[in-house]
Amino acid sequence: MSGASRVTLVSRGLLQLCAMVAVAILALSVGASAQGADREKLQVVATVSMIGDAVRSVAGDRADVQTLMGEGVDPHLYRQTQADVAAMARADAVFWNGLYLEAQLEEFLEQLSRHRPVFALGENVPVEKRIANADYADRYDPHIWMDPSLWRYVVEGARDALIELDPEGAEIYQANAEQSLADLAELEAYAQASLATVPEDKRMLITAHDAFSYFGRAYGFEVLGIQGLSTESEAGLRQVDQLVFLIVEHDINAIFVETSVSERNVRALIEGAAARGQEVTIGGRLYSDAMGPAGTYAGTYIGMIDANVTTITRSLGGNAPAGGMAGQLGES
Ligand SMILES: [Zn+2]
Repeated sequence: MSGASRVTLVSRGLLQLCAMVAVAILALSVGASAQGADREKLQVVATVSMIGDAVRSVAGDRADVQTLMGEGVDPHLYRQTQADVAAMARADAVFWNGLYLEAQLEEFLEQLSRHRPVFALGENVPVEKRIANADYADRYDPHIWMDPSLWRYVVEGARDALIELDPEGAEIYQANAEQSLADLAELEAYAQASLATVPEDKRMLITAHDAFSYFGRAYGFEVLGIQGLSTESEAGLRQVDQLVFLIVEHDINAIFVETSVSERNVRALIEGAAARGQEVTIGGRLYSDAMGPAGTYAGTYIGMIDANVTTITRSLGGNAPAGGMAGQLGES
């Protein structure tokens, strides 16, 4: 047995054990929460911050939305804590991205869906608009938020789910969703206009992991991730070598780090390029799988994408205001 498959077996065993413990806690919590269910607002839990933002913007003040993963947290690796299990078991509904983004939570959410409404909002994106996952025939790239024109399906999914959970609020949910969709259209127009100013031969985005394929498809950028689609796989040395070759070949001067992925692999690439005489700098920090700090502009979905678009545009030789679409970004 190879080292790799031994590790897989051990972690699978651990996963099963964790899931069993989680289900036991779940059974206790579901029993406990059923008694005290007389609250004014819907109590909902979202996994990643982008999903929490979509639900919050549609729900307005008719729901309390708790997000499990905050700034800089990597959803590919995240595993529920006991507090998360209790929160999800008490909630009126749980919202997640799905498409195998929250890989370690799948088993738990599958169990939970027998007791509580659970909505995988990312799976509202029509199959023909999804990007295939090169590593698994039956899976898709989960990073749909990188294209605001796809994110509208998530907002619409949140609207429909909230109406199902709370029909009395239907008009409010419809109005809030309409406002959200208008905001998304404005964001998309800014992104198109801003990224179109990047010289065509510089439209190459090199990032820590493959989170930007939808972005690349929407805006005509070639996208290369040092790690694969999930941050679970280690970047192979050969892959780093191939990327160094491309960087030199295309005279790329800026590559990007991500707030939820370690900078180690990006630094290896910069050193590799330097050894071949190509100077590359870090073009900026992009929000890949988590939004910025709660309570800030970058801690909203609109702010996150605005920050990414503005950073990419400015680092690769295009024109965008330092403050971004709404003048709300910090000086960069
Ligand atoms: Zn990712």
